[in-house]
Amino acid sequence: VYEVSAGQNRGNGPRWFEGRAMLLERPPVRATTSTGIVIIGSGFAGLGMAIKLRAAGIRDFVILERAHDIGGTWRDNRYPGCACDIPSELYSFSFARNPKWSRVFPTQPEIHEYLRACVDKYDLERHIRYDSDVIEARYDAERVLWQVETRGGTRFEASVLISGMGGLSNPAMPQISGLAEFAGPQFHSARWDHDVDLAGKRVAVIGTGASAIQFVPEIAPSVGHLSLFQRTPPWIVPKIDGPVDPRKSLLLKYLPGYAWLHRTSIYLTHEVRALGFTVDPKLLRTVEKIAKSHIKRQIADPALRATVTPNYRLGCKRILISNDYFPALTRANVAVVTSDIARVEDDAVVTSDGSRHVVDVIIYGTGFRAQDGLAPVRIVGEGGRTLDEAWSDGMEAYLGTSVAGFPNLFTLVGPNVGLGHNSMVFMIESQVAYVLDALRQLRKRGARALDVLPQVQRSFNDEIRAKTKKTVWMSGCRSWYLDKNGRNTSLWPGFTFDFRRRTRRIEPSRYRWIGR
Ligand code: NAP
Repeated sequence: VYEVSAGQNRGNGPRWFEGRAMLLERPPVRATTSTGIVIIGSGFAGLGMAIKLRAAGIRDFVILERAHDIGGTWRDNRYPGCACDIPSELYSFSFARNPKWSRVFPTQPEIHEYLRACVDKYDLERHIRYDSDVIEARYDAERVLWQVETRGGTRFEASVLISGMGGLSNPAMPQISGLAEFAGPQFHSARWDHDVDLAGKRVAVIGTGASAIQFVPEIAPSVGHLSLFQRTPPWIVPKIDGPVDPRKSLLLKYLPGYAWLHRTSIYLTHEVRALGFTVDPKLLRTVEKIAKSHIKRQIADPALRATVTPNYRLGCKRILISNDYFPALTRANVAVVTSDIARVEDDAVVTSDGSRHVVDVIIYGTGFRAQDGLAPVRIVGEGGRTLDEAWSDGMEAYLGTSVAGFPNLFTLVGPNVGLGHNSMVFMIESQVAYVLDALRQLRKRGARALDVLPQVQRSFNDEIRAKTKKTVWMSGCRSWYLDKNGRNTSLWPGFTFDFRRRTRRIEPSRYRWIGR
């Protein structure tokens, strides 16, 4: 079984960047629990699924959560300044509105609080099994059920397995030699060590993605010196944020029609962007101009301007929003380092130009292992074939949700369900509706399991590939959207309403029905 230790470490000998996985002893199974459905993870996907299962009258399910709190990525990412770049009204379930958002763009504590409130409101606590770190899920074809094992030695047997793990749940550590030699504290942004006092310290930040551009402005004023290691500058546009007007909150609370209109208008203004991403990237030129003038307005030094100006097409990587990132870079105690990192020594980051950047702390804003599928959970499907094997040439599923050879496995936020332009909660709700329809169809047809036909999955992925060809993501940049073969395995190359339409109902002829 795989182990990827997620905890932060201080001082010598951190284990968590030793590579993708290591082999551990399988713990003895101490107890077996039978249930109808196992959901892995209690982030937006797992909770959304659970709420809708209960609404459909299904109570026979458990949510296995590896931590001792719910919230997924919104529990794990607690770095200073952590917030969402989709407006709060849309970054919430359509069936669980929250009229109390304090800002246009919600902050991490508020989103986490919202998810906790959903657990209470929909009585989900009774379904959640905390500290249940799933290490393996194995399909038993004879009994037509999934055997799910946790690190603690508990086994669950269920007809249906739903992954709510998402692609951004396991931190990616850079492959830099000498990381283990570093003597000071070091941690990943998604495992922020709040016990480390950064005041007055010399800090290295590696990475300039969505996470780093949020925490750099927060820590820059208090650290002694910040060396920001930038490999590729991100495109950044202004953030139109602010507190929500209390009168608007009242309208949202008491006028459902207004709330609907408001949400729909935010949805549509975001959806329009899909045109630029997936139909004609030339449409993004105006946004590129906005981003360039944002740099000009916020940075006076021509050299720094040039350093932070990207040389690839806007939209190829995620477009970021910030008003305080560029000003933070202009501070006297902040230096943007663009030379490649050669190695890390006990007290310094050494770059390929030979410079030694002496630091006390290293913070990794290096993103997530989005291409590792559902690892570290080992999923074993029909015939003993693992998901890793099935995806050895790249992840693929049918409508992001079903994988051929893995009956009754549903992958929420699976391959090609991600977005660069709109709210993931919308996609999750679409997938949840699809899974519910699958469960309905199983009952109706008197079948025990369904398995998407391989040729259906193949032609769907041919379509994804063809559609991706003309997208801006293929315009030549390195991003977590693409796999090692340069294939888009992460994003939905189209409009989200099209995904909604296609996931409304299961098309029975696209599946093999087992045990009828
Ligand atoms: P990310 O976008 O993948 O950025 C990782 C950064 O680390 C990039 O700048 C990357 O450089 C750099 N990097 C990686 N390995 C490196 C190495 N070996 N040496 C030097 N630099 C290295 O990760 P993230 O910022 O955590 O964001 C991930 C995703 O999470 C986002 O795209 C978004 O979907 C989500 N997110 C959203 C928000 C929000 O809503 N505001 C906030 C945080 C995260 P290259 O660009 O050269 O690869």
